[in-house]
Amino acid sequence: MLSSTISLLAEPLGAALMGLYAVTWPYSRENVDQNALEIMAQSKPNQKKFSEETTQKIEAFIATIGIDPKKVLIIIDDSMDLPCDSAGFRANGSIKYQGYAEVTIGPKMAEEIDKEFSSVHRFAIGHELGHIAHDDTGIGFVKRERMTSIIRLTAYGVTSIALNTLYPLGWVSTHLMSCIAGKIAGFICRNGIKCQQEFEADRFIGVKSRELRDGGLKFFEKLKSELITIREKQIKEVKTRECIAHTSFERCLYRVMTIISAVKISKEGEHRLNFNHPSIRERQMRLLKLEPASS
Ligand SMILES: [Zn+2]
Repeated sequence: MLSSTISLLAEPLGAALMGLYAVTWPYSRENVDQNALEIMAQSKPNQKKFSEETTQKIEAFIATIGIDPKKVLIIIDDSMDLPCDSAGFRANGSIKYQGYAEVTIGPKMAEEIDKEFSSVHRFAIGHELGHIAHDDTGIGFVKRERMTSIIRLTAYGVTSIALNTLYPLGWVSTHLMSCIAGKIAGFICRNGIKCQQEFEADRFIGVKSRELRDGGLKFFEKLKSELITIREKQIKEVKTRECIAHTSFERCLYRVMTIISAVKISKEGEHRLNFNHPSIRERQMRLLKLEPASS
């Protein structure tokens, strides 16, 4: 609470420092070690691995879409099993600036992949490889944060000038309002760019073949039904607690939690509070409009 208040009140400084960090971060690591992937793999000794057969299938798939599998580390992360946050797959690292990239997979998805590496999984991994190919966590990060810093500082400056000119409130109020304007503008800018990066990563793999595009459509259907299940489970849980609550305060608290659970994920299986990912419906529509290469 205290740190978010300080961060809000120091908005122009925070925006400038973030911009500076974004611009200087990757360039300091441009000296890529040839053994970066090996070093990285060794630093994760407890990391679970796929069977030899599945590893070969994944590596062959990575090679077919034009990325060197020797530069991609596939990790199974037990802590990552929240379909609402990342759908069980995440990309990290930058081949250009760090010499390697990572695709992290949640345990549930990893188990499915070990049984059968279907087009649904190939689309999901391909989507993460799209982020890697576009260097979304390298140069994409730099561009996004640079633009966000500019937008935050501009929103802060414009609001300050406008308030001082049109509606003088005093220094403290003007600063507070301008900080809020900077924060909101930055939030919209950063998440807007992230959503575009998601569309581009979908496109990257969706155009490769009809099978992969259709795998994507199935993947999103599966994700929606998982989110619906989570929604129903959460609502049922808090409703049960509401029924056995002892005091009216507890009942009121659980009622609010029920409403939050119902609002967070829509009846149709859309995660409404996941601002850095586009809606599943929009992603499906865009996939349908693609013209994949004939496989
Ligand atoms: Zn993504």
